[in-house]
Amino acid sequence: MEINISKKWKNVLTKVSSSMSAVSFDLWLKPLEIIDIKDSALILAAPSSVSKNQIMKNFKDALLDAISSEFDYIADFEIFSPDEKEEYLKYNKPFEEEDLSKVNNKQSYDNFNVKYTFDNFVVGKSNQFVYTACRAVAENPATRFNPLFIYGGVGLGKTHLLHAIGNYIKNNSKDKKIVYVTCENFINDYVYALKFNSTNDTIITNFRDKYRNVDVLMIDDIQFISEKKALQEEFFHTFNDLYQKNKQIIISSDRPPREISALEERLKSRFNSGLIQDIQKPDLETRIAILEKKASIEKYTINKEAIQFIAERIDTNIREMEGFLSKVIFYSSLLGKNSATLEDAQEALKNYLETNKESLSTDRIIKVVCDYFNVTKDDLIGKRKNKEIATARQICIYLITEMMDLPLTAIGEVFGGRDHTTIIHSRDKIEELTKTKSSISVAVNDLKAMLKD
Ligand code: ADP
Ligand code: MG
Repeated sequence: MEINISKKWKNVLTKVSSSMSAVSFDLWLKPLEIIDIKDSALILAAPSSVSKNQIMKNFKDALLDAISSEFDYIADFEIFSPDEKEEYLKYNKPFEEEDLSKVNNKQSYDNFNVKYTFDNFVVGKSNQFVYTACRAVAENPATRFNPLFIYGGVGLGKTHLLHAIGNYIKNNSKDKKIVYVTCENFINDYVYALKFNSTNDTIITNFRDKYRNVDVLMIDDIQFISEKKALQEEFFHTFNDLYQKNKQIIISSDRPPREISALEERLKSRFNSGLIQDIQKPDLETRIAILEKKASIEKYTINKEAIQFIAERIDTNIREMEGFLSKVIFYSSLLGKNSATLEDAQEALKNYLETNKESLSTDRIIKVVCDYFNVTKDDLIGKRKNKEIATARQICIYLITEMMDLPLTAIGEVFGGRDHTTIIHSRDKIEELTKTKSSISVAVNDLKAMLKD
């Protein structure tokens, strides 16, 4: 099998060599060898720890730039010293070009989270239609609602329902082949397949087999497909192929198809040909029922007033509500109690519920962002253009504009006297990326959650 990693590696070296002296290049970069590709990172080995350290200290950014421009699928690298290499190879087979087809196949699965079942899903006004549709599809795939497109805000139960369908089918019709994939993995898989397709046809064939040779295909968080034209094209054909063979397609999204930016018309119309069903925010009664259910599944005891207290305070994101439940339980268990009371809930959540704009400061946001991305404050507010730092900086600016009421010029001041147009640019850019790039949207959500704590 001829996937030309070695050739790509040569290109990487040529690229890096242009940014350093010939002596440094020969001394440090040239001796590197590839030993593996793991979790979208290239694993390299250096002939000594001195050379490893030199590279990490002086050429890390240049090398990473060259690697990521040459290998689309690869976003990071690691260098091992001889000792580390030896250790690594004790537990891992050294890389062979043939292994690549396996890498391509590893990302989807049908081992569903056993907690995400229909029985554990609380049905109320906000989700009864979507529940009924999912249940119908699980009981009789590809008969009524095909495709089934479900959408709703973060933490309202979409992934839970997809897993519930998966669990149900797995338990009731063992011969059915189900593939569940997050849109992000679908994208990675595809980019990877394309990248190596020019040298190896079987990779794209593997990719197609994997997604077309199934009875049920589920894609979670499809909104990340927006703007990715080639992928939409591929997905369109996958879709048609499955549909013609009368196979079930289930899709989730945080918004309806018409609001997914740059989604091709023909895909929209495919989605519209099935059932599109939304999940609303749960009402108080449903929220209480959900908390009771979670508590009973985890065998927690918590009294009714405490549950009511939590449910009244969070009305959008159920995941967040569960987080509060755990905090309360944890708190009361520290006190050695076997049942959480209203007072425990009030005390445990005291610091989390009082957040308002005043308690935030730019310093606090900057600190949290620095910790999250592991960069220094000087770098964050300084001028370095390294990609990771620049992204952290833009995210920080975005969070400040979103979470605080500060004039743009004042924010510019905080960031070393930057112009307000720079602030606007950063804000808009991140706003856009949260819609198209899941790594950014995950980071922004994480950070917001931390800042609310
Ligand atoms: P989404 O995919 O829409 O962001 P998830 O499916 O990940 O949301 O749900 C977030 C959490 O909330 C999960 O732990 C899930 O079990 C729980 N959850 C959401 N809706 C319900 C429900 N109706 N009944 C029970 N648990 C729910
Ligand atoms: Mg989800």
